[in-house]
Amino acid sequence: MKMELDKRMAEAVPILRRLNEAGYEAYFVGGCVRDLLMGRRLSDVDIATSAQPDSVMELFPRCVPTGLRHGTVTVLEEGKAYEITTFREESEYEQHRRPQAVRFIQNLEGDLLRRDFTINAMAMDVNGEIKDPFGGVADMERRILRCVGDPDARLQEDALRMLRGIRFASMFGYSISYSTWKAMLRHRNLLSFIAMERVGSELDKMLSGTLPAAGLTLLGRSGLWRHFKQVPPLNRSICAAEPFGNQPAGTWPAALDLRWAYIWISLMADHEELRKWLLHFNFGKQRVERIAALVHMNAAAVELIDRSAASQTGAVYLDGWIDLLLRFGRQTAMDWIELKIETGEGLLPAMTTEKLSELRRTAEELSVLSPADLAIGGDDVKAVTDKPAGPWIRRLLGELVRACAHGQIPNTKEALLSEAAIRIEKEQT
Ligand code: ATP
Ligand code: MG
Repeated sequence: MKMELDKRMAEAVPILRRLNEAGYEAYFVGGCVRDLLMGRRLSDVDIATSAQPDSVMELFPRCVPTGLRHGTVTVLEEGKAYEITTFREESEYEQHRRPQAVRFIQNLEGDLLRRDFTINAMAMDVNGEIKDPFGGVADMERRILRCVGDPDARLQEDALRMLRGIRFASMFGYSISYSTWKAMLRHRNLLSFIAMERVGSELDKMLSGTLPAAGLTLLGRSGLWRHFKQVPPLNRSICAAEPFGNQPAGTWPAALDLRWAYIWISLMADHEELRKWLLHFNFGKQRVERIAALVHMNAAAVELIDRSAASQTGAVYLDGWIDLLLRFGRQTAMDWIELKIETGEGLLPAMTTEKLSELRRTAEELSVLSPADLAIGGDDVKAVTDKPAGPWIRRLLGELVRACAHGQIPNTKEALLSEAAIRIEKEQT
């Protein structure tokens, strides 16, 4: 079978040719061949060769020995980086993840044999000729994800493959072959050996795909998530049987972090527990905070909507919304509106798109949300009284922010100072 090279691959052809001219075999391998065959955009172009790493480094002086122990050299060519890895076999996996013994070999097939799934175990030469010893193309046509070789052995060697498998199946809308699926169920407890950082990056990729719900269903049905090193913060009362089987009902929001929040909102997770759990993923504090704050704010916002639906007066609604803005900040509020609109909740009677747009306008227009937005500062407040400085200043500024946000006083120096004086006096009497 022969394929036309994609532009990214064509750019790398000189590298493969140089290896060929020096007497070595060289191929495009793995994800890039898979993506080319599927007509997907390539992420990275990886190259496998029969040349030993030191020979690769000799042929390409502009290189970085990024993973010599595993035979990987990163070559820089025309401003682009390519990983060139010597054909290798792996064995003696430690802790169901890392191969301890890596042996460089001379034949491509041996190298493809160590790869995880048939669709990832194909290679292509400079002429576009596909090497597919394990039936990757046939599996692609039937839309099946299948381990290379014996699934029991392959998933035990490296337990991360189970999660990769679910990720690929959901990204491509594939089903998982019966024997691979059975092996996943048999060895799912080994997932506890996998660092949460790796779990997080797989889940990120899974959720970024076009079918995140398919991934969640597979996670749920396989029960893999129960064996994560850190168990997710599930609300036991609503998630008795199979939480991830019940994926969110609406459309998925576009942004990845909103997708994360959407799942945990649907599962009614506790935001504190969620924050703790997300921190294991190495997502960075900001990302974790963005997701957890959104889950937290949603609970408060839903309560507000219920309350105002009962009271029938729009004022309660808007005042409550301003309180939420003060409490959670503008960014979280905007995230929340985006989430509600994108997931189709804006179509619900209690929370129409018009209402949400009105709330968004308020969020955009509210000019005072924190003491930094006030026309006065702590020093101005100190100047209107003999009272010694203390935590009361911050408290008072907070009250002034609230009064401005609710439109009770204008945000001018004059109005704020007179309001401050009144409040100080009231407190002293
Ligand atoms: P993507 O880059 O889109 O996430 P990919 O298939 O390219 O997908 P990489 O992690 O970049 O994934 O790995 C490149 C190739 O290395 C894979 O296609 C596969 O052949 C092999 N590979 C990666 N991880 C494993 C693993 N845990 N076990 C076996 N083979 C693997
Ligand atoms: Mg890749």
